[in-house]
Amino acid sequence: MMELKGKKVLVVGLGKSGLAAALYLRRQGAQVTVSDVRSAEALAKEIPALIEEGISVEAGGHGLLTFRRQDLIVVSPGVPLETPELVQARNFGRPVIGELELAARFLKGKILAITGSNGKTTTTALAGEILKEAGLPTLVAGNIGVPVVGLIDESTADTWSVLEVSSFQLESTEQFHPKIAVILNITPDHLDRHGSFENYALAKERIFAAQDASDFAVLNADNARAAEAAARSHAPVFWISSSHAVAQGAWVENGNLVYRSAPDAATEIILPVAKIALKGGHNVENVLAAACAARLAGVRPDAIARAIENFKAVEHRLEYVATIDGVEYYNDSKATNVDATEKAVAAFAGGIHLILGGKDKGAPYSPLAALVRERVRAIYTIGAAAPKIEAELRGVVTIQSCETLANAVDAAAAAAKPGEVVVLAPACSSFDQFENYEQRGQVFKQLVSDLRDRKARNA
Ligand code: ADP
Repeated sequence: MMELKGKKVLVVGLGKSGLAAALYLRRQGAQVTVSDVRSAEALAKEIPALIEEGISVEAGGHGLLTFRRQDLIVVSPGVPLETPELVQARNFGRPVIGELELAARFLKGKILAITGSNGKTTTTALAGEILKEAGLPTLVAGNIGVPVVGLIDESTADTWSVLEVSSFQLESTEQFHPKIAVILNITPDHLDRHGSFENYALAKERIFAAQDASDFAVLNADNARAAEAAARSHAPVFWISSSHAVAQGAWVENGNLVYRSAPDAATEIILPVAKIALKGGHNVENVLAAACAARLAGVRPDAIARAIENFKAVEHRLEYVATIDGVEYYNDSKATNVDATEKAVAAFAGGIHLILGGKDKGAPYSPLAALVRERVRAIYTIGAAAPKIEAELRGVVTIQSCETLANAVDAAAAAAKPGEVVVLAPACSSFDQFENYEQRGQVFKQLVSDLRDRKARNA
């Protein structure tokens, strides 16, 4: 194992995971410097605690010399690996790794890792609940909001660390070695950062790069690019499918979620699909993936079924908000790409008033056209991406330019009839008008709650 004591380590990017990594490295006796492009004022909350711990802080940009003479550089997932200073450091032979890789080198026990374009948080949270239900010592972390380095001290040889991992985190892994690796789906996202769909897909495949024949890969047979990844897996592949039986893995048959451990093994019933509390066919895929992974971790079907029945939507993921005058409101602020929006639309039979827009991420909106024509009554656009959305979906259904979320909620509420639904599933990131998708979702829920109060007063 890598020795950290006395080593010079640079942490680039002071987000949640950068902060956690810096503090961990310092506690292991490393000489730590943190560098961030944000100004000292913007980092005023973090800096005092770092200085207190004896960590040097460089704010407002990276000095050229900062990257020299470091034994190790730990880069935050938000910082592109093509950043000139990092490219140069690698050319000088300095190891550049991410917080996930750092953590993986010290974490004890086994790792169940989950990646995908959509559904990671939902599936990770559910898999964690299932393992806990079975009484296994379980820790949950990663892209889900809890840095993985934070688990190291707690982990033991018996621990299962259930980790949500993003393509950004996987880009900088080397030894990261999950016992069970899940790829839920690969659909266009983050093309602004990865450059091409294939680069993005290859970053996701790094989840199983260090696996061997004693490990397990779980792939979605219904997603073309995720299924294609099987060709490069060193571990046996277990499949999930909501449409057909698979050789080994989990699928839906006669209204039941079922599993088999080998092509010639008996098929076990886990639970009826009707008992899944989550909405939409996409969530059936997430449940299949969590169930399959848990079965591979040795959890018995009855414990899997209990955890699934009790599991409700994670906030901002097709979350039910309220019913006002017979119209249901759903907050899917986490639908930050076109595929997630498509899944949100597919979750309702029709009568949808759909709020779209935000910061564009480079993928086309036209793939939504067929489903929108079938199920959506009207689109309400907000934010910077509005002109592109309007151009690509013109003529499919009525589109109202609303600019702000407040206008969109009002316009949708005015148009929606009892039995219809208003869904915020914007297909874009939030950074043009909001701090993040969580804040956008909170604002939406507040607007819906204000609307309910207004209606109640006028009634
Ligand atoms: P992630 O962590 O990968 O972003 P989440 O569970 O937070 O995944 O869900 C993100 C968005 O994608 C939400 O809008 C959710 O409704 C939608 N979604 C969830 N699971 C899937 C899936 N399997 N396929 C497509 N969209 C999904």
